[in-house]
Amino acid sequence: MHQTMHEGIADYLEMMRLAGISELRKHTAATVLHEHNPPKETLKRQDVGPRPPEISCEDTKPEKLMPPAPIPSPGIVLSGKAGELQRLASEVAQCTLCKDLASSRTQTVFGTGNPDSPLVFIGEAPGMDEDKQGKPFVGRSGQLLTDIIEKGMQMRREDVYICNILRCRPPGNRNPLPDEAALCRPFLNQTLDIINPKYICCLGTIAAKNLLASEKTIGALRGQVWDYNGIKVVCTYHPAYLLRNPAAKKDTWNDIRLLLREMEQG
Ligand code: SF4
Repeated sequence: MHQTMHEGIADYLEMMRLAGISELRKHTAATVLHEHNPPKETLKRQDVGPRPPEISCEDTKPEKLMPPAPIPSPGIVLSGKAGELQRLASEVAQCTLCKDLASSRTQTVFGTGNPDSPLVFIGEAPGMDEDKQGKPFVGRSGQLLTDIIEKGMQMRREDVYICNILRCRPPGNRNPLPDEAALCRPFLNQTLDIINPKYICCLGTIAAKNLLASEKTIGALRGQVWDYNGIKVVCTYHPAYLLRNPAAKKDTWNDIRLLLREMEQG
């Protein structure tokens, strides 16, 4: 049955109410955005809480492309973390370590968002739209990620930081090769060193397995909190997977609720 956008949003909000996310979220964003960088602690895996009621969620939103990433004027040199990321992005833009990717890319896709954010989302690699626009998570997957952040977490997309394991699009949208992920890893590490987040959300199996150096599937990695150098890590499905498998959205809502609970606790 065809839904209007209004009905789709109403269903979504009812789903979030059932999942208890709205109540949990009421002051989480304001709290974590202003309490960044307390002492880090080693964390052991934790089990997920009880599952929310069975829900269904159809993606009724039309495709909406994100606006192009703002390109700083060459004359503008940013300061602080933004400046450090700007310098690293310039280095990445010149990188040709992966010959196939460097020769086929339109441009590198570094990352976007708030350099002071306590939360970083990590995906796997740019796709066709990202390669064109120079910005991670645009197109339908990007819109779904925006909905997760803004409707589910009640945060603004620009308040978090978003990047990928790879900074260049693999031809034909194939999965990143292990060698490519290894070559690009120093750029991810430097990005995380600069931002110094408290929380990371890995989107999809490539991101989760590479960040955590694990051979487990995303199904085994999701639903728990992992430690990465003192950063709390929650893994969930990639938005592109959710578009193909809407039934998995309820698992992602559970993962987001787990992430919000950790952010609430600080
Ligand atoms: S994917 Fe990373 S390491 Fe490979 S060419 Fe692009 S920027 Fe360089």
